[in-house]
Amino acid sequence: MKQSQITHWCHEIIRSQAQKGGLYVDATMGNGNDTVFLCELAGGAGEVFAFDIQKQAVEATQKLLEEHSVTTKYHLILDGHENMDHYISEGKADVICFNFGYLPGGDHAIATQASTSIIAIQKGLELLKSGGMMCLCVYSGGDTGFEEKDCILNYLKELAPRKYTVIVNQYFNRGNNPPIPIFIFKK
Ligand code: SAH
Repeated sequence: MKQSQITHWCHEIIRSQAQKGGLYVDATMGNGNDTVFLCELAGGAGEVFAFDIQKQAVEATQKLLEEHSVTTKYHLILDGHENMDHYISEGKADVICFNFGYLPGGDHAIATQASTSIIAIQKGLELLKSGGMMCLCVYSGGDTGFEEKDCILNYLKELAPRKYTVIVNQYFNRGNNPPIPIFIFKK
């Protein structure tokens, strides 16, 4: 069942909200699945910016995009998502996706870090247009630990409700620190 996978669940919610032809951001390229999804959603009139700090991720994403022969104008950027404001102007983004943690099949030591993740979320919220959304897949336990999850949830709890609606989903009956899907809607 597709809904049981966090990325599928997030894609369904994004698909239900997003317009074709927008500016979409994949803040964590990884193996490129979200980048391809965002390109397909954006279509030929849209634009996608994707970030990762690992060359391996950029190469995997480039390959996947070629296999899917997408028509979207895309930019694969080898830089941290905490610098996304160097590439995108304020108030321009329709959707920004984060999939935190480490690259599956890669080095578990090269993972997203609480301090830079918070800066990236903060900047991402500034880049969103009114009516735009941010989607975050947050992981914990195992090699990931709990610091990043705790920092992100604490940060989001304090966001002004008159500016943002924050929805935190829960895999309620699943053990072993299930991933947390989060959606932020900018008013
Ligand atoms: N945990 C997810 C996949 C996450 S991939 C899963 O299991 O499906 C996370 C990606 O974020 C990795 O490719 C990693 O290289 C990248 N990353 C780490 N720090 C980053 C940063 N500061 N900016 C952008 N990407 C970063």
